[in-house]
Amino acid sequence: MGQIIVLDQNMVNMIAAGEVIERPASVVKELTENSIDAGATKITVSIEDGGRKLMSVADNGCGMDGEDLARAFEPHTTSKIKTSKDLQGISTLGFRGEALASIASVAQVKGTSRTREQDGANCIEIDCGNKNSISPASTDYGTTIQVRDIFYKLPARRKFLRTTNTEMGHIAEQFTRIALANAPSSNKQGLDLTLIHNGRELYRLSDKDNLHSRIAELFPIPSSGISENLIETESNEKGLHILALMGKPSISRTSRKFQYIFLNGRFIRDKFISHAIKEAYRGLLEPNRFPVVFLFIRMPYEDYDVNVHPTKSEVRFYNANLVHSQILGCLREKLLGTDLQTQAQLPRPANFPGSQGSPATGHRSQAIADAMAEFFKKHRPVQTQEQFSYKSKQHLVVLRPPTGQIPESHTDPATVSAFQAMAGSAPTSAETSQYEPEIRPEQRKFLQIHDSFIVVQTDDGFDIIDQHALHERIIYERLSKRIQKSKLESQKLLIPESFEVTPSGSDALKTNAELLEKLGIELVPFGPKTMAIQAFPTLLVKADPLDFVQDLIDLLDRKDVNLDGERLLDEVLNMAACKAAIKAGQRLTMSEIEQLLLDKENAESASRCPHGRPTTIKFSITDLEKQFKRT
Ligand code: ADP
Ligand code: MG
Repeated sequence: MGQIIVLDQNMVNMIAAGEVIERPASVVKELTENSIDAGATKITVSIEDGGRKLMSVADNGCGMDGEDLARAFEPHTTSKIKTSKDLQGISTLGFRGEALASIASVAQVKGTSRTREQDGANCIEIDCGNKNSISPASTDYGTTIQVRDIFYKLPARRKFLRTTNTEMGHIAEQFTRIALANAPSSNKQGLDLTLIHNGRELYRLSDKDNLHSRIAELFPIPSSGISENLIETESNEKGLHILALMGKPSISRTSRKFQYIFLNGRFIRDKFISHAIKEAYRGLLEPNRFPVVFLFIRMPYEDYDVNVHPTKSEVRFYNANLVHSQILGCLREKLLGTDLQTQAQLPRPANFPGSQGSPATGHRSQAIADAMAEFFKKHRPVQTQEQFSYKSKQHLVVLRPPTGQIPESHTDPATVSAFQAMAGSAPTSAETSQYEPEIRPEQRKFLQIHDSFIVVQTDDGFDIIDQHALHERIIYERLSKRIQKSKLESQKLLIPESFEVTPSGSDALKTNAELLEKLGIELVPFGPKTMAIQAFPTLLVKADPLDFVQDLIDLLDRKDVNLDGERLLDEVLNMAACKAAIKAGQRLTMSEIEQLLLDKENAESASRCPHGRPTTIKFSITDLEKQFKRT
């Protein structure tokens, strides 16, 4: 007796709906995509109760006549493709012909539509797959689809809906993606987009915006800091047009949530592109941070396949390597050529007159703030202090010597050589002469605090420098430069230091013999399980050879990661720089600080340590004046 039956069409649709319609936000995504495919220039999305009660999408697109309107809700009906050939090179967002049928099988749906040629509109209602006949309606041209009580006949799925806030959050996210993908630009008209929840307008985006202003509206400033911290770059090579707005490292995030990648107007997730982005920020961000990025890619539709996932959010590139390298190159080049200094984020004073207090005190606070502002305008503090100005290179001026220290002349040979040893390299005579004429002690304007940070006065404020992070960066750059030219110089140890090595550690050393040679590290066998360090790089005098070599073996012997040669060398140099750098908690002499500041000016990318942490935080006088209510 046969056990197999053919499922009826409604069951088929419900099952398909499970793939396409995960939650209310999926409905919003599918409906808005249909509106865009219909050529709409204005879309209004209205939601009630996080989509549970109602989702309505109204557009001014091409519309459908009565016949098409009735057919659109049948499974596998589409106007976007006709033959299998059309599957190569899909230029519309939809093509699978299953969204409307899926939605109509799990909710109460009403579709109203009118083409420009028609005098009147038509409307159709479908209740969980049960279709009524078409009836006349009156509306302007375009299409409106209303979806009520999603999953009401599927209690198991309805139960999985989250709170109104959560579902609304997902809907807003879909809306954001559509809004970014369709922002106005010089060669493209944008979409006029509105999102309403329970009668309240959440977003009203005009087609007169530009991409920047749209980002500012979608990610309001105080919470995100996104829109004012973006670096823009563009490239058009090898059939790939790339426009990127890259968040500065200071606004990085703990997840990829703020990476918006669009391919020909479609929001996608792609592991090659994510990897390229991560690589582009290498050394600028700590490993567990993710940059904010808005990336818009345009390329021929024939160069990738969108038919790999029901929600079409993943694609398959025919030449993924090209996509990877073009994106990496474009982003990296811009980031390396940009000054990425970290600007201090001063706290917004709570309950301070002038700040927004509770509504009850707001009025009073405002009155006090106005009075104070008036007072300060009239009574600007008299500037009795000597006017400082930190001029780079020639004019380093002391604010106050570090506690208990008498500033000594930086030409004291003993100090200079001690510091050079500490800094890991003796400046060449050319490097030294660059800093003459001599810096007079009374011209210096810096100070070490907590034996860890250096405060330096600048033209428009002051910088706070993390001495370890900065020194690490400087040493790292020197090491990288030297090693690119040739191997590092090394010196023989007076007494070779011996250490025990495991068989796998010894294997790792053998495999990486070339790298050790480049680093100027000489190891010799000393017994069955013992080796000795015979020579060690001069640039790393400050590091303990034994400690360094042991950590190096650990790094080379790591089984969890397989680094290519370049990455491995980079890791080794990072480690070396960290070990050889001045530590936090180490008191520095005046001349040591001076040397550090001079080296900073010569460093290529002094604002970040090799691990991507900032070395310097800038404070501006203007911000301070604002904080102290002087302006
Ligand atoms: P697909 O978008 O994959 O073609 P859908 O089920 O989403 O499948 O839509 C079916 C068809 O209904 C579309 O191909 C299109 O012809 C028509 N349609 C859907 N929404 C609209 C709309 N807002 N305006 C005009 N036509 C629409
Ligand atoms: Mg569709």
